[in-house]
Amino acid sequence: MATDYYQVLGVPRDATAEQIKKAYRKLAMKYHPDVADEPDAAEKFKQIGEAYEVLQDPSKRDIYDRGGDPLGGGFSGAGGFGFPGGFDFTNLVDAMFGGHTARGPRSRVQRGSDTLVRLRLTLAEAAFGITKPVKVDSAVVCPSCNGAGAADGGDPVACSACQGRGEITQVQRSFLGDIRTTSPCPSCRGFGTVIPNPCGECSGEGRVRTVRTVNVKIPAGVNTGNRIHLDSQGEVGPGGGPAGDLYVELTVSRHEVFTRNGDDLDMIVTLPMTAAALGTEVTLRTLEGERDDIDPAEGQITITIPPGTQSGARIVVPGKGVPKLRGRGRGELGVTVAVATPMKLDEQQRDLLRELAELRNESSPEATVAKQGRGVFGWLKDTFT
Ligand SMILES: [Zn+2]
Ligand SMILES: [Zn+2]
Repeated sequence: MATDYYQVLGVPRDATAEQIKKAYRKLAMKYHPDVADEPDAAEKFKQIGEAYEVLQDPSKRDIYDRGGDPLGGGFSGAGGFGFPGGFDFTNLVDAMFGGHTARGPRSRVQRGSDTLVRLRLTLAEAAFGITKPVKVDSAVVCPSCNGAGAADGGDPVACSACQGRGEITQVQRSFLGDIRTTSPCPSCRGFGTVIPNPCGECSGEGRVRTVRTVNVKIPAGVNTGNRIHLDSQGEVGPGGGPAGDLYVELTVSRHEVFTRNGDDLDMIVTLPMTAAALGTEVTLRTLEGERDDIDPAEGQITITIPPGTQSGARIVVPGKGVPKLRGRGRGELGVTVAVATPMKLDEQQRDLLRELAELRNESSPEATVAKQGRGVFGWLKDTFT
């Protein structure tokens, strides 16, 4: 999702609902295709509408702020089907001219809200992808009444308190004249209809809460903070209305060997001083080694340590990092060498080292002073490369 909705509306990220509405109204009037002259006005108008749809809805704004895609990539929403909560022309008119043009009973059937669940992955799962069962606690269509809300399958009947209008108007007399106040009908909660014999399982709501298992396919290359968007797997709406979407937010656990840097992996291997000086070959287990669906030999690499390798040297193995989430190929694996200085020496070893030091004129070496600020590995790199 490349569009910055805040930028589209020209509001700060902490803008209040009022600021967002104001900015939207101003831009919508400017770019409305009926009045705008700019050739790209229609596209702009659509973008503005999209930005407003997200930012005016606290739950969608929250999803967007956390890097998710609250629209599921489309602009359709549920508004086109006449369910409140989506973006439709009524919302637009409301925003432009203030006040509510929509009057009368509200629909018993509404789109459900989106659901967010969190899922923890190992580094190998995130790198190579996996299908995982995820427990989702959300509203589903009531199995007893199939969403209708009535115990006997009967239809809702018009509310007698408001004669089906869904609202009640009271008139108060005052010296300024009659003051009319309209409020939702308390008998039918504004629906205009009542269910004479509500379903016992859902009390007429048409939905019940339950924990279900959803198999979520995780693509290769995901990272902490990525969200998987599953269309219509969220909460079923009131009255058995269409389900919202499900977002699965991923967290990738730290690995005890590999550190991840974008698509690259890094690891540190320790080598004896003698091996680093003379050069050697070492066989390492790559992250693939944790997959059980491949030949174990594929989970290993052999790398050559050239003679004279310094502590801090980084050997790059291309194509052994994390697969790229978008696009092809893989990052690199960086193997950083740490040279181990022997700690316990017996007499013979000490004599050999002394002899070596004498041969190399290192019996009383001068210290080389390191420059500040680059850390020990940075200094080694500067000194030896
Ligand atoms: Zn029911
Ligand atoms: Zn009523």
